[in-house]
Amino acid sequence: MTDGVPRATAPMTEGFSFEVVAGDVRGPRCGRLLTPHGAIDTPAFMPVGTQGTVKGVSPEQLRQIGTSIVLSNTYHLAVRPGSKSVRSLGGLHRFMGWDRPILTDSGGFQVFSLADLRSIDDEGVEFRTHVDGQLLHLTPEKVLDIQAELGTDIAMALDHCPPPGVGRDEAAVALERTQLWARRTIEHRTKMKKWDPMAVFGILQGGVYEDLRQEGAERLRQLPFDGFAIGGVSVGEDRETLLATIPISARGLPVDRPRYLMGVAGLEEFIVAIESGIDLFDCVIPTRNARNATLFLSDGSVLRIRNSVHREDPGPLEEDCDCPACGTFSRGFIHHLYLRKEMLGYTLGSLHNLRVFHRFLESAREAVKSGGWAEFRRQVTVPAG
Ligand SMILES: [Zn+2]
Repeated sequence: MTDGVPRATAPMTEGFSFEVVAGDVRGPRCGRLLTPHGAIDTPAFMPVGTQGTVKGVSPEQLRQIGTSIVLSNTYHLAVRPGSKSVRSLGGLHRFMGWDRPILTDSGGFQVFSLADLRSIDDEGVEFRTHVDGQLLHLTPEKVLDIQAELGTDIAMALDHCPPPGVGRDEAAVALERTQLWARRTIEHRTKMKKWDPMAVFGILQGGVYEDLRQEGAERLRQLPFDGFAIGGVSVGEDRETLLATIPISARGLPVDRPRYLMGVAGLEEFIVAIESGIDLFDCVIPTRNARNATLFLSDGSVLRIRNSVHREDPGPLEEDCDCPACGTFSRGFIHHLYLRKEMLGYTLGSLHNLRVFHRFLESAREAVKSGGWAEFRRQVTVPAG
């Protein structure tokens, strides 16, 4: 720590590396994360493929729009079809037909948000699934085993993500438990059955409290994780608090490891996070909103494609967009597809929205590399509301 910035304490798992290739190590920065399934230029956005598929979008289309890594949900895959079945079908990459990197979450967030939670203690969580009410018990060790059996590239440690608006005491308990589980995760990875090379990321909790985030980061970075994630952001807090929590959380994380802001996206969020040295993002918004007929434009405004003003519009969703939807189809046609609930409409909307997110981060990377970040962020006007 000669230059006063925190660094990791151990080398990364074999087969993985991370290098800051441009900018300031504390952010804004560009990085390159190497995995056994390929490289990820950061900052990068990870489309969410909850059930092992980004809804309505094929792996080939994901490649076409510049997706370098996909996020999949451990909880959903563990409940159905089960990690054993995924393994028997050749592992997650083969199962999904996606040969580029995959990050799986730990399932913790879904347990707290979807399942009928029965109990949580230092040992783990017990809950009934949202599918068939089956009683399941997850521990940090089991969560790591499931992700290894799935065959992910990047596994997330189990964390305790408390609901929004919790007081300091509850946030401190969740942080402490997440820390305990982080240590058990690291201990377990040395003993577990070897499947494929797998990196493991630790998660920082601490709610909206700066001292908890700082103290948590200081302890978390002592552990030999391959990357560090910020959890417990965008769980229902107001926007100002959300944006303020990003820099206070990122500050204490090692600068020489990938840093992942979980579940957050949006132009202003990207700007604040990139300036805090964040490298990876995921969010369901581009695909979920596309299915609800809300499409994004590059300036952050939205286009409601079901609106009748688009009925005879021969132009693309957005001029100068290089996505497959804008290259071929008119707003009028896509409007028609949405009104008729044609599947192609949701696919085209999802491709366009994802491309807008990818393109924004590509432009951000270019801006950092060319020294034009200040100008880039000045041009990003964030519409109110
Ligand atoms: Zn487009």
